[in-house]
Amino acid sequence: MTVTFAERLARMPGYQAGVPTGQAPEAIAAGRIAQLASNESPFPPHPQVVEAIARAAAATNRYPDPAATLLRRRLAERYETDPSRVAVGNGSCEILLAAAEALCEPGAEILYAWPAFSMYPYLPALTGAREVRVPLAAGGVHDLEAMAAEVTAATQLLLICNPNNPTATHIPAAEIAAFCERVPPHVTIVLDEAYVEFQTNDDPDAAIDLLADFPNLVVLRTFSKCYGLAGLRVGYALGSPGFRAAVDAVRQPFSVNALAQAAGAEAILHSDDVLMRVEGTIAERLRVEEGLRELGLRTSDTQANFSWVDLGDAEEAAVLAGLAEREIAVRPGTPLGDPGHLRVTYGTPEENDRFLGGLSELLD
Ligand code: PMP
Repeated sequence: MTVTFAERLARMPGYQAGVPTGQAPEAIAAGRIAQLASNESPFPPHPQVVEAIARAAAATNRYPDPAATLLRRRLAERYETDPSRVAVGNGSCEILLAAAEALCEPGAEILYAWPAFSMYPYLPALTGAREVRVPLAAGGVHDLEAMAAEVTAATQLLLICNPNNPTATHIPAAEIAAFCERVPPHVTIVLDEAYVEFQTNDDPDAAIDLLADFPNLVVLRTFSKCYGLAGLRVGYALGSPGFRAAVDAVRQPFSVNALAQAAGAEAILHSDDVLMRVEGTIAERLRVEEGLRELGLRTSDTQANFSWVDLGDAEEAAVLAGLAEREIAVRPGTPLGDPGHLRVTYGTPEENDRFLGGLSELLD
């Protein structure tokens, strides 16, 4: 007899690291790699956040607060809601996984657009729910009409990635509201707003206002992107008290560690810092998009901290290999669901120049 693993193991998609080369740790430590593959912030956290982390580090002989009381209270204050409506997780990824676990059984359906965030296929794989993928419309935009048509009595979870990773497109809150009107109340709609701070269509909190009208809506956010805290893993969701209780019931009690709680609780107080970072990123977005246009490349309409580039006649693998040789890490389109593309995160101005320069050489 040999060990047999659970059947669902074979269904798991697996995660590809953003910087895949064997020498990566040394090259990263030496600061040589332009890390433009994971939609992170190129900037370190706010100095007061770093101080809060250092203070918390001195008390790590204790387990963290399992209810993340301070973090949830500060988030509730920031969004003028009740802490009972705030779920936190080890990154917003954990909340996505927990939502699937808490809501779905074999026979249930999980509906999402494709290509979208590469984590979404984990949810049906883990739970045995049926995945229903709706192709994006032209321009890499969610096709809400087609998604509404796929909702059935079995739909338990519907995911909307807004702005969408990897295509960077954004749907205004008014359209999300009209869509929510059409979706029956047994469906939990998770609006994944990991990049919402970078969009300029709407007030960044426009979707939060919809929570009062739709008890089946959940807004998912993260400290990993504009707050520059990807390494600590902390995300949150605003929704019903029932959703929060469900997420807490299935995740392990201490999943948001003490440093992450302290960092999030401090970071949420610094919205001025976030605004400054976002402005810097938007300036780089305009510059990178302009540079790509000059190279004759088309991109989707980006409202995020990254561009989705149509490589046209250029071969994706050759371009990726050429950039890797120049120690520039970006994401290939094929594993993200659309061959012939690449996704590039905006880094520092110098990193962005290296990317544009490298790409120009490779396309010549
Ligand atoms: N949602 C989207 C759309 C993302 O792109 C990401 C990270 N790449 C996440 C959620 C998860 O972020 P985290 O787990 O770091 O909060």
